[in-house]
Amino acid sequence: MKVACATGHRDLRARPMAADDESWEARGVSDVAYAFDEKGLLPAVLQDRVSGRVLMVAWMNAEAVRLTRETGEAHFFSRTRQALWRKGETSGHSMRVREVLVDCDLDTILVLVDPAGPACHTGARSCFFRDEDGEPAGARGGTEVERLEETILERQVNATPELSYTKMLFDGGPARIGMKVREEAGELATAITSETKERVVREAADVTYHLLVALASRGVSWREVLEELARRAGVSGIEEKARR
Ligand SMILES: [Zn+2]
Repeated sequence: MKVACATGHRDLRARPMAADDESWEARGVSDVAYAFDEKGLLPAVLQDRVSGRVLMVAWMNAEAVRLTRETGEAHFFSRTRQALWRKGETSGHSMRVREVLVDCDLDTILVLVDPAGPACHTGARSCFFRDEDGEPAGARGGTEVERLEETILERQVNATPELSYTKMLFDGGPARIGMKVREEAGELATAITSETKERVVREAADVTYHLLVALASRGVSWREVLEELARRAGVSGIEEKARR
């Protein structure tokens, strides 16, 4: 496996800053001595905690880092205005901080957030909303599942059932799609019980695709499902079942 970081960590994310992280302490770093640049700044990457999408990059000075960690709202330092600012102070689109990670050489911060609205001043969800040719990024920059979801939604509107299996499913209506999900789930269950790992992967992919079509047929986005999972995180599975 290719390793992204010079320290040999396979994980692309930097190590968490939690003081009780044993391996972190074993490295002789009990708290973080940020490597600010000569202007006292370091870049902060904001990432949507739920979708994994990179939302924006801005600069932080020591005060912005402190306020971000203490208030749980992302704060930055504007190089043009030479002033501290809180994300959302004028737009209302604040960024609720869930976790702060720091990279291997301590000169870049990764902030995992729940966005209250678009990250970009243009109104785009992410500042990375276009490619080098100026074409809309769409689901690019998101996960493979988001890209698949985008394709499915596009087929729902534009495709013909003769040429598109997805469109054919949509035209069958939710009840028919539900049957298909049940059938695919059954195949996955069989693969899990008695077939090879490769079969499990392929059947799981089939289930995922049909699940996305089923969700789209009811106007439910993948993000809503992820948000539900994020809401449950930290709640025990037993507790969660009891609540339903
Ligand atoms: Zn922007």
